[in-house]
Amino acid sequence: MALLDNLLTLHRVDSQVRALRSRVTSAETYFRAQEKQLALLAKQKAELETQFKQLQASVHGLEVEQGSATARVEKLRGELNTSTNDKQYKAILNEMKSLETQRDEVVKRAVEEMQRAEETKKRLELHESTIAERLKIRDVAKNQFDECMKDVGERLSELEAERARAAELVPDRERKLFDKVADETEGEAMAEITVVSMRHREFACGACNIEVPFETYARLSSSSNDAVQCRACTRILFLSDANRPVDPKDSKAKDGKAKDGKAKATLTTEAQEKAALARDKAKFEKTKKL
Ligand SMILES: [Zn+2]
Repeated sequence: MALLDNLLTLHRVDSQVRALRSRVTSAETYFRAQEKQLALLAKQKAELETQFKQLQASVHGLEVEQGSATARVEKLRGELNTSTNDKQYKAILNEMKSLETQRDEVVKRAVEEMQRAEETKKRLELHESTIAERLKIRDVAKNQFDECMKDVGERLSELEAERARAAELVPDRERKLFDKVADETEGEAMAEITVVSMRHREFACGACNIEVPFETYARLSSSSNDAVQCRACTRILFLSDANRPVDPKDSKAKDGKAKDGKAKATLTTEAQEKAALARDKAKFEKTKKL
């Protein structure tokens, strides 16, 4: 198999590996986001609970204060009845009035604090129902992630093995180049050359549309063993099946004389079909020339 054919096989498997990995990554990202959201809600809930407890304690303290003021007023009322002179009577009466004013103030504050406690309780209840809703969403996200891991996990290891086999067929230098470009282009390392006008010898990169020199087209028409990059987007350029030269080793394989059984075994049906199509077209071209 020619270098470009092997690169295309590698590209196909690599794309599948990347697509599956990204499925797992997005399921995981979504699940983690839900967990984060829940952690934030739990923190807010704890804060509301603390606020509620503080308000309850404050109301209780005010009630105690109110109770002791009332008791003191009652005691003074008794003293008032047994007072022996006018001066004493007035003094007790003044103290009672001042205590009653203080007590009214305490009652007013207690009512306000009770209202605040009530509001906090309502917010807390609302918050709890938000958490319950979020928990459902989180559980769905977790199931999706688990399921994704389950079905993707097996397929991913199969594909990774297939990718490794495909990569073995590509020389070290080109393989490193492929990996680099694939990482930079999110798995779109290969670009087919578009024939803009054969008559005017105009060609373009199928990915970024920048012009591809005729020399590149000519070079790739005569050999599929060169990895030529697009000068703009750096993708590795290839020609369509019809324009790709036929690999002589590949013709041998067809005759059953192939030595590279291992390479042949990794060929997928799709690639075999493509190769067969290319061979047929090339034969047709040859016959036309004759
Ligand atoms: Zn390009």
